[in-house]
Amino acid sequence: MIRIAVISGKGGTGKTMITAALAHLLKENRVLADCDVDAANLELLLNQKLLRTEPFMGMKTAVIDTALCTQCDKCVEHCRFGAIERNGDTYRVIPLRCEGCAVCVHVCPVAITMQPRQTGEIFYSETERGHLVHARLVPGAGNSGLLVHAVKKMAMEQDRDCDLFLIDGPPGTGCPLISTISGVDAVLVVSEPSISGLHDLKRVVAVCRQFRPRILVAINRFDLEQVLTETIRTWCREENIPVIGLIPFDPAVIEAVRNGRAVTLTGTSPAAQAIQTLASNLEQELTDLGTQW
Ligand code: SF4
Ligand code: SF4
Repeated sequence: MIRIAVISGKGGTGKTMITAALAHLLKENRVLADCDVDAANLELLLNQKLLRTEPFMGMKTAVIDTALCTQCDKCVEHCRFGAIERNGDTYRVIPLRCEGCAVCVHVCPVAITMQPRQTGEIFYSETERGHLVHARLVPGAGNSGLLVHAVKKMAMEQDRDCDLFLIDGPPGTGCPLISTISGVDAVLVVSEPSISGLHDLKRVVAVCRQFRPRILVAINRFDLEQVLTETIRTWCREENIPVIGLIPFDPAVIEAVRNGRAVTLTGTSPAAQAIQTLASNLEQELTDLGTQW
């Protein structure tokens, strides 16, 4: 199985739109994962049908047994995160503030215990382009990196015979990105021609280089700012990173997203044709890598 993650240094670059189109264009036997667990939306473009839901248990949270509490206040004094609240004679942990450090258990092993807490759900779905694993994190809950790991694990275990594992990654360079790119063979970084686009591209490439996947770049809406597109291409050339796709601005993309379809299914618009070229180049790059394809 070859593993590819489509990522971007920031949100709004068209990463999910491109992932959905690649899901239609790349090799038949595939499994998909949406690792953008804070704002998963790949399923909206793939005509998804839910097959199964599993709870995601994040880090443990402190829980106070009020029957054993002697109201000594020590836990409140020691919790650096302000996660323990006193209301009259009653103490309670505010779950969204609890960082799971267990200091309170250390000061009060009799009345406080650390207990698992469900902080999200993992979904296993059928789509028109293969199985999709996606997830939802409870708003305000942490552990998105851990949830990304759980999403990838489920995809690889459930569809271990697939030829291709295509991942829609999270934006940014934080823990969810690191969890997404660890163990992948290639990353496709979707950039856009703006000053911040180039800045974010440099940051995400710096993170990816720690994990040594093949790094490839596509520039979305490249024709909106040709000078900056050329600046990005020059930087990529200097860094020995192939730019394998140039996708023009195309109202057909907006229309396709509005209709919940991959743009490559809606005709031969300029963006659809450019993504077809991108998919061919991607297959060629992966073949050149010497990977079983
Ligand atoms: S440290 Fe223990 S006994 Fe003291 S207030 Fe907190 S929970 Fe109650
Ligand atoms: S586990 Fe840490 S953060 Fe949570 S309530 Fe206890 S001391 Fe506070």
